[in-house]
Amino acid sequence: MNTSKKDKIVVILGSTATGKSDLSIQLATRFNGEIINSDSMQLYKNVDIVTNKHPIDERKGVPHHLMDFLPLTDSYNLSLFEKDCNQKIKDLLQNRKLPIIVGGTHYYLQALFNKTIPEEYSRDLWTEEERNFLKENQNNSHVLHEELKRVDPVIASKWHPNDITKIYNMLKIYYSTKKKPSEIYLSQEFSMKYDVLFLWVYSKPEILNKRLDDRVDKMFERGALDEINFLYEKFKEYNICENREEKMKSGIWQVIGFKEFLPWLEDGCKDPEKFEEGKEIMKIKTRQYAKSQIKWIKKTLIPDIKGKSLFVLDASDLGKWSDVVENRAVEITRSFLNDLDINKFEQTPEELSDLLDKKKLQKLQNINNPIQLKLNISQFICDKCKDKQGNPIVIIGKDKFKEHLNSNKHKHTLQYIAKKRKYEEWKKQQEGK
Ligand SMILES: [Zn+2]
Repeated sequence: MNTSKKDKIVVILGSTATGKSDLSIQLATRFNGEIINSDSMQLYKNVDIVTNKHPIDERKGVPHHLMDFLPLTDSYNLSLFEKDCNQKIKDLLQNRKLPIIVGGTHYYLQALFNKTIPEEYSRDLWTEEERNFLKENQNNSHVLHEELKRVDPVIASKWHPNDITKIYNMLKIYYSTKKKPSEIYLSQEFSMKYDVLFLWVYSKPEILNKRLDDRVDKMFERGALDEINFLYEKFKEYNICENREEKMKSGIWQVIGFKEFLPWLEDGCKDPEKFEEGKEIMKIKTRQYAKSQIKWIKKTLIPDIKGKSLFVLDASDLGKWSDVVENRAVEITRSFLNDLDINKFEQTPEELSDLLDKKKLQKLQNINNPIQLKLNISQFICDKCKDKQGNPIVIIGKDKFKEHLNSNKHKHTLQYIAKKRKYEEWKKQQEGK
């Protein structure tokens, strides 16, 4: 497959408050781009401050898509994003615009992958027995884990028996497909729908944390309080206070900066201490969120894309922005769009080299299926034997690997390598004569 035949898009990722939006405008104005938002909260209409939408007067007229359109009553998910985002990309490409995807909901980026595993599994295939078993034991992680051990010991060994959600989901996959989840995962191959350039705007944690706190304070200076009150009115209006706990986990109500203030709001907004408390929790949640965003990039995205076409931009010192973020991003993007070699650029600035573990990346690039790494299934690579595609073969499990080392296939490979070496030595001698 020739990747250069695929359409080119740019993705700007990174945690909150690193300056992704600023960079997106800078690239869009230079490369005839338009923005596609991939932040799940910014999809919603109104509440611009609390959701951190880039102010319109700072957008320099660059159109922003999939932003500010969803009614507060609606919920949204990855499947919807996948449909909307890919349609937008198609529209923009047709109009000869460069699609630039920007946002902090990093798992939405899966919309750019070709996937072979369906996200939702049909319950129709569950037997009566399976249905009852799951229903009766949904809170009994030990029993669920025992069952998973029976049907798929490989996947069961990867999770702690207390990790009930994961165990439950694995059983659901098994009952729906009658296939072992570990085998489904291992057979899944990732490829990208597009030729994607990933630009990761990064800021060192000690600096970022300060910036996140400041951002929360600034939100209130800009009028976040009005939005919080507005949200509370809507919250009451939609009569969703009954099953509140559930509702708080979906849609706009998950936004950081609303539920933290509920105790204060429900108390009639009288107690300034409760307000300050809400603000403190909001700051803590914002920091936790930023941390989880980075974790997702490291643990999920990088293995999926095998660390390819991803470049880190150091936004720690905003005084150096135009040099180390803007100009670097412009140079890389220009090469990318002109089909020039982007590998000549360092993937990370030297100071941040530990963000991309080179050894691990090399290992990843030798692996057909990065999910193995994510599942942490012990895998062994025979660097002598190759598969049909010429990649080193990967063997799952220590015992299987031992078996391989004693196999005829492996022995033949060793013999072949020895013969080849001898022949090459002989040839050299002949040439030397
Ligand atoms: Zn071998």
